[in-house]
Amino acid sequence: MDKKLLSEYAKLMVKVGANVQPGQKVRLYAEVDQHELATLVAKECYAAKAAYVEMFWSCGEIERLHYENASVETLGTVLPWEEERQKQMVKDLPVRIFIESADPDELSGIPADIISTVGQMRSKVLKKYRDEIDGKHQWLIVAAASPKWALKVFPGCDADTAVEKLWDAIFSCVYIDGKHNAEEVWAKHTDDMKKRADWLNSQQFAKLRYKSSNGTDFSVELIPGAKWCSAADTNRINGASYVPNMPTEEVFISPMKGRCEGTLIATKPLSWSGQLIDGFSVEFKNGKVHSCHAKQGEEMLKKMFAMDEGASMLGEVALVPKDSPINKSGLLFMNTLFDENACCHIAAGEGFLEVIDGFENKTLDEIHAMGINDSIIHVDFMIGSDDLDITGIRPDGTEVPVFKNGTWA
Ligand code: ZN
Repeated sequence: MDKKLLSEYAKLMVKVGANVQPGQKVRLYAEVDQHELATLVAKECYAAKAAYVEMFWSCGEIERLHYENASVETLGTVLPWEEERQKQMVKDLPVRIFIESADPDELSGIPADIISTVGQMRSKVLKKYRDEIDGKHQWLIVAAASPKWALKVFPGCDADTAVEKLWDAIFSCVYIDGKHNAEEVWAKHTDDMKKRADWLNSQQFAKLRYKSSNGTDFSVELIPGAKWCSAADTNRINGASYVPNMPTEEVFISPMKGRCEGTLIATKPLSWSGQLIDGFSVEFKNGKVHSCHAKQGEEMLKKMFAMDEGASMLGEVALVPKDSPINKSGLLFMNTLFDENACCHIAAGEGFLEVIDGFENKTLDEIHAMGINDSIIHVDFMIGSDDLDITGIRPDGTEVPVFKNGTWA
């Protein structure tokens, strides 16, 4: 890949995405195959006067070996030192930067119940620390091309060509072209996204109704007064504005938990916990998943919705027009960060605190009582199609077209 663009990417991540402030600690997560990008990011963090950059390396092949050889007990146990590291995180409130490059099907063949049990055991110990830093630190998820992932996106190519093509696609999705100033492009992009969110907020919808010829026929209630959000978020402790996902094309909200009905047809495959789930549909009754079917990975999908009580309810509703640049690329990334920004989606599991005004002065229990869902999972799945219509319904029953044929009405 073009080294100049890679440096520009690292800079964009640190300055606009994570917006690292002088004196802040950073936790940087990457796979070992991304040491070149991780090094550039660490360099940019120090250029931004970070106090310290702590590395968290992982390796997909070794992760797979763990699942093939170690016991569930061992894999699911969070050792005291690991928990101490999380306690330190709550104290330091470090910036967290995640560089994703994993094979979307890394753990194929590993029994779904082993993966879900390990996840449940670890979340039981670790979730509280994640909850504690929510809204109080900057974070960022970005992606990097690896041979394993690239070959899934470009299956006909040799590994080098596939990686090259995936890098080109990533750079173009995050608006890096080597010609324009990416920071300026992003300032305009976040501004445009905010205007969409402002319009939705002005409409005060109580409900959204979805219809598509593929069989999607669904309605969901919204929380009175909850706010639609977009690209930029704010660290409530230091006031730093940051963009937690790159790319991002979505305007999103957390709906009222337990208040949705109908059927959603997934329009893209989903990679969850290292396995691919494809060709699936989900039926909701009384706000919860009632049944689901998949051509591939049905058992994993069922395990996912059964991870805990909140996993069968919704935590997010997001609007993305079909003319988003990611969708126009025509590529299927099999990576949620990209595919969720190609079309409308919904997430099962945990909702977002920041959609509630003044959430920082409320307890988690109070926020959950308002209708924000709680769960150890938050999994987006894609439901946008070429003829998806979404209608907004106000409390007085008036109807406003929001999406017509897959894009803003
Ligand atoms: Zn989303």
